[in-house]
Amino acid sequence: MQMLLETYNLELKELLALAKKYTKDEVEFCSLISAKTGKCPEGCKYCSQSSYYMTNIPTHPLVDVQDVIKTAKEAKANGATRFAIVTSGTGPLDKDMDKLCEMISAINDIGLKSCASLGILKDGQAERFKEAGLVRYHHNINTCRSYHDKITHTHTYDDRIDTIKKVKQAGLELCCGVIIGMGETVEQRVEMALELAQIQPESIPFNILTPIKGTPFENYSDKIDEENILRTAAIFKIANPNSSVRLAGGRKARLTKENMELLVETCSEAVLIGNYLTTIGITPQEDLETLKKLGKKLSV
Ligand code: SF4
Repeated sequence: MQMLLETYNLELKELLALAKKYTKDEVEFCSLISAKTGKCPEGCKYCSQSSYYMTNIPTHPLVDVQDVIKTAKEAKANGATRFAIVTSGTGPLDKDMDKLCEMISAINDIGLKSCASLGILKDGQAERFKEAGLVRYHHNINTCRSYHDKITHTHTYDDRIDTIKKVKQAGLELCCGVIIGMGETVEQRVEMALELAQIQPESIPFNILTPIKGTPFENYSDKIDEENILRTAAIFKIANPNSSVRLAGGRKARLTKENMELLVETCSEAVLIGNYLTTIGITPQEDLETLKKLGKKLSV
C-alpha cells in the first residue's frame, strides 16, 4: 500500500512514464447496447437508472435480439472487436435467460467477442452464459471495500465479489473496474488498484463519475481533478500490468482532449467507443484519429 501510494505521488511526468512502460501500443475498441434501461431496484448513488432517484431518463424493457444484432453490426463497422449486452437491474431474471443467451450467440455469429454486464448472478447463471458462448462477463467492484457502503445500501462489496468468483469459476473472462471521483480518498484509489491486482481481471474499465442530476452525487464534479484522474489511471496500470485498462464512461465530460490523449498514450490499452449507457461518448472517428496521432495500432 505504502509503496503504491508513494508511486501515486511521484512527479506526474515520471509517474506517467512509468505507467507507459507497462502499456502496449495496441488499443482495442469495444462497444455496448443498453439492452434494458432504467427502473432498477438497486440504489447505486451514481446511477441514473436507479428507481430511488428522479432522473427522468427514458426507460425500456429488454430489447429484441434483432436490436442487439443491428447495434453490434454498427459497432463492428466502427472498429469494435468486442460487444456487450448491458442491462439495468439487480441481476438477470429467470424469464430473460433464454433471450439473453440468444443475444450472446448472435453477437458471436457476427464475428465479435461477446461480453455481458447483467448484474449480480445467481448460482448456475454464469455456466448458462458460458454454454451459450459468452466470452467475458463485466462486473465492477465500483469502488474499494472501505468506501462501498457510501455508494449503495442495497448490496454489499461481498455481493459483488461473490459474482466475480462465480464468473471465474465458470471459466469466463472477467472485466472488472471502478468509477472514480465519487468522494473516495487518494488512499482509497490505491486500495482499489490493489484489490483489482488480487482479483486479476483481464480488463479493468476505468470510469470517471459523470454527475447526474437527481442522484445523490449530482454535485460531485469537484471530487477529483484531471491530474488525479491521470494519477489514478497510472497506478491502476502499474499495479495491474497484465490487465488492459479500458477507458470508459466520463472521459469526454471530465477530461480535456489533451489529457484524454495522455491517458490513451500512457495508461490504457482499450477504449469503450460510442455512447455509454445514458451519457454521450466520443465518436469512433475521433477515437481513431487519436490513435493515429499517437502512433498506436487498432487491435483487430
Ligand atoms: S448501477 Fe446497475 S445495479 Fe446500480 S442502480 Fe444502476 S442499473 Fe441498477
